[in-house]
Amino acid sequence: MNKKITLMGMSQNELEDYCLSNDFPKFHGDQIFRWLYKNNNQELENVSNIPKKLKEKIKNDCDINLLKIKKKSISKIDKTIKFLFETKDYKFIESVSMIDSDRHTVCISSQIGCNVDCDFCATGKMGIDRNLKVGEIVEQLIEVKKNTNIPITNIVFMGMGEPFLNYRNVIESCKIFTNQKAFNLGTKRITISTAGVLPQIDLFIKEKHKYKLAVSLNAPNDLIRDKIMPINKKWNINKLMLSLKNYNFFRSRVIMFEYVLLNGINDSVENAIELSKLLKNFNCKVNLIPFNQILGNYKRSEDTTINKFAETLKKYNIRVLIRWSKGEDIDAACGQLATKHES
Ligand code: SAH
Ligand code: SF4
Repeated sequence: MNKKITLMGMSQNELEDYCLSNDFPKFHGDQIFRWLYKNNNQELENVSNIPKKLKEKIKNDCDINLLKIKKKSISKIDKTIKFLFETKDYKFIESVSMIDSDRHTVCISSQIGCNVDCDFCATGKMGIDRNLKVGEIVEQLIEVKKNTNIPITNIVFMGMGEPFLNYRNVIESCKIFTNQKAFNLGTKRITISTAGVLPQIDLFIKEKHKYKLAVSLNAPNDLIRDKIMPINKKWNINKLMLSLKNYNFFRSRVIMFEYVLLNGINDSVENAIELSKLLKNFNCKVNLIPFNQILGNYKRSEDTTINKFAETLKKYNIRVLIRWSKGEDIDAACGQLATKHES
C-alpha cells in the first residue's frame, strides 16, 4: 500500500503541521504552499528557499502530483484547449481552457462522471465514479497554467460533475484558488454551477461564500424540468426559488441562471415569457446555452429561435447573454465532457 503523503491539495495549516511534525520550523509550510500553488509546482530542486534536508524528506515521504496529462486537444476554430487527465487510479477527467481577448477562463471538473442524470448531458450518461479530491481539483488549474502560459482570470465549475455533491472539496479548492499566496483570484472570478442541489445551496448561503453561484434551470416550469432533469422531482422549481430568494436578500448578489435551449422542448416565446415571469423578482442574469449535440433525442434550436428567446427575455427586462459554444470541433463544449476516448 502506498503510505506516501500527497502534498497537492494541502492547506497551509496542513503543510505547517507536516513541517512541525518532522522537526522543521513552521514557516517552511508557507514556503511549500507557495511553491506548490503559486510557482506552478516547478521542480523541487530548483526551489531555493526550502532547505535541502526538507526537500529530501519531501521526496521520500510525499507524492506531489495527482494528475497526468493524457491528451491535449486544440480547437482549430477558436484555440480552445481541452485537457484529458489521468488520475492515480487510472480514471479520466477533463478541463477546458478558453481564451476571449484578455479573459482566460478554465472550466474544471469536480467529479468523475455525474449521477444527477440530466437527460441532455453526456457526463450524466456516464453515471458517477467518485468525487475528486481537493488536490485533483486544484491540479487541473496548475496543469492548464503550465501548458498555456497565459494568466488565468476566471474559473468555472462547469466541467464534469455536480460541484454541490462534492461540496467540501470544491469549497476547499476555492480557498486555495483565492489565497493570495497561491492563485490569488478574486472570489467573483470563480463560478460554481449547480443543477439545484438544495441542501448545499442552503449551506452555501448560510456559510456566506462569495463565489458566484450559477443555477442550471433549463426550464420555465416543473412539467418541462421534470422531463429533462430528474433532480426536479426531488427539489422542484418552487423550492429552488424559495432558497435562492435568501441568496438575493442576503447580499444583493447576482445569480446566474443557465438555460440550455433544446429544440421544441423549452425554446418557444411562451417559454421565454414564462421564464421572465418566474425570474422577475430576482437580481439575476440568464445565460442561454445553445444545445451541444450528444447522442440522444435532443436537437439544437435554430439560431433565429435562440435570438428570439433572448429578445423576449430582454423585452421583459431580464438580463441575458447567449453563450455560443467554444471548442465544438474537439467536443469541449458544455455537456460534452465524457472522456469519450475510453470506448
Ligand atoms: N453539474 C453542474 C455543472 C456542470 S454542467 C450543472 O449542471 O450546473 C454545466 C452546464 O452545462 C449546465 O448548465 C448544463 O445545463 C449544461 N449542459 C449540459 N449538457 C449540455 C449540452 N449537451 N449542451 C449544452 N449545455 C449543456
Ligand atoms: Fe450532472 Fe450537470 Fe450534466 Fe446534469 S448537467 S448530468 S448535473 S454534469
